[in-house]
Amino acid sequence: MKDSCFNEFDPNALNVEDALSEILQSTGIKKTYELVKLKNAYDRVLAKDIKATQDIPNYKNSAMDGYAVNFTDRSKKNFSFKCIGESYAGHPFMGDVKPNNAIKVMTGGLVPNKCNAVIMKEMVIEKGNMIEVKSKIAKNQNIRFPGEDIKKDDLVLSKGKKIDEIDIGILASLGKSELYVYSKPIVGFFSTGDELVSLGNPIIRSQVYDSNRYLLHGLLQKYPVRIKDFGVVKDNMTSITKKLKKASLECDLLLTTGGVSVGDADFVKDALNKIGKINFWKIAVKPGRPLAYGKIKKCLFFGLPGNPVSVVVTFNLFVNASIKKMSGQIIRKSLSLEARLESDIKKRKGRKEYKRGILSVDKGKLFVKCLSSQGSNILSSLKKANCYIELDETISRINKGAFVKVIPFELESEHYD
Ligand code: AMP
Ligand code: MG
Repeated sequence: MKDSCFNEFDPNALNVEDALSEILQSTGIKKTYELVKLKNAYDRVLAKDIKATQDIPNYKNSAMDGYAVNFTDRSKKNFSFKCIGESYAGHPFMGDVKPNNAIKVMTGGLVPNKCNAVIMKEMVIEKGNMIEVKSKIAKNQNIRFPGEDIKKDDLVLSKGKKIDEIDIGILASLGKSELYVYSKPIVGFFSTGDELVSLGNPIIRSQVYDSNRYLLHGLLQKYPVRIKDFGVVKDNMTSITKKLKKASLECDLLLTTGGVSVGDADFVKDALNKIGKINFWKIAVKPGRPLAYGKIKKCLFFGLPGNPVSVVVTFNLFVNASIKKMSGQIIRKSLSLEARLESDIKKRKGRKEYKRGILSVDKGKLFVKCLSSQGSNILSSLKKANCYIELDETISRINKGAFVKVIPFELESEHYD
């Protein structure tokens, strides 16, 4: 037992941090990788470090349309240059530019070695093949130097980076047309529950549409995984065991929802115990306390709760980290902020709680409102919210005006820890 306050909740429940570290410890990285075309690399995970094979830019060039000059006297405020040629992007001037000579240059055009400044076109008076400049010139002004963006041999992208559009742009600028990415892990799921009806069929009172499968499908879209939907299974030991066995053979990670608590119709834990191994099944967290985590042969298994908000919260807290690790991604902590609470909050000691909240800014200060509907069945509360309010195990009550930890949806830290 880690903390005396755990007695007030459930002494057998793991705390969030311990559960997460156990999950990460037992999740292996997918070992296979594949070569993909750059355009197909979006949202895939880089399997090998990438170093720059050249400088970017790779030649000295102009940041402006104007004139590249070879000037000598820095103290002067009045210059006259003889224009001896021109350098367009893709059409360089290859001649010698002697002192007091200039060439016309376009943005991106090569600036000859002996030129030590570029003067904007707007600052120049053109007189035949002569130009006049009536201002001071700073050495190297408006010149872009080789390697000022990326230097040859720099580490450009690290293994484990999920490729985004900027990465694709950078890799293209380096001429990289193909790269190695990790193969996509296969993530499967099914729902459990006698009350569940698949979409497309009518329901009667006492039945509900199987929304969790759609929820999970949506949650998984953001990951570089292959998704397998194994449908819905009735609340009975034989069917659940059979489905777990079959699906686990086809997946690297398997998720179920429902049937994982202590009710008379909750068979997921027992089925897992029969054909695999349970690492733990209770976490001191709300929403989401019953969560069975284990393995069936080589397949990782998460038995998520049935209530939809619990599905989302436990997915974000635990499954997210496991999939990221499995797919080779570097795992970063969620970015958290401190905001002033707009009304009192009550909670039970001994468990971590993730309340849904609305974060706002007023005169540069952060405020957070705790939504009134916090039931784990109320999915619309996640729609209204834009953050979680994270309340630690030791907290029992927080008053209006106090600072609380807030995790905005979809914000990550730049750092890895
Ligand atoms: P359980 O964890 O099986 O006791 O389910 C808890 C609550 O979540 C019950 O109200 C279920 O009807 C609901 N629930 C379970 N599975 C689903 C599902 N796939 N889609 C929508 N609601 C569900
Ligand atoms: Mg159920």
